[in-house]
Amino acid sequence: MRPGKEELHGIKPAPQTPRPSKPHSSKPICEHKYVHYDCNKKQKYLVTTGMTEWTRIDYFFCEKCLDEKEKRKQETSRDKPEWY
Ligand SMILES: [Zn+2]
Repeated sequence: MRPGKEELHGIKPAPQTPRPSKPHSSKPICEHKYVHYDCNKKQKYLVTTGMTEWTRIDYFFCEKCLDEKEKRKQETSRDKPEWY
């Protein structure tokens, strides 16, 4: 049996969050806010070519859903790339 009156003073049902209509939404929407938390740098001197292989991996995590991702950059050049 439910009370006939929907008016409950002071008590609200679960708040309804307005749903923004986004074109592609397969997953629960998180507007990721990635925070940089680690960085890994490697350099390897290639004797055969006299070049250096520069690798840099940046690690990020989303501070909202804690999703992790890494961004890897690699370049083989004589001089240090500016992103290194
Ligand atoms: Zn997220």
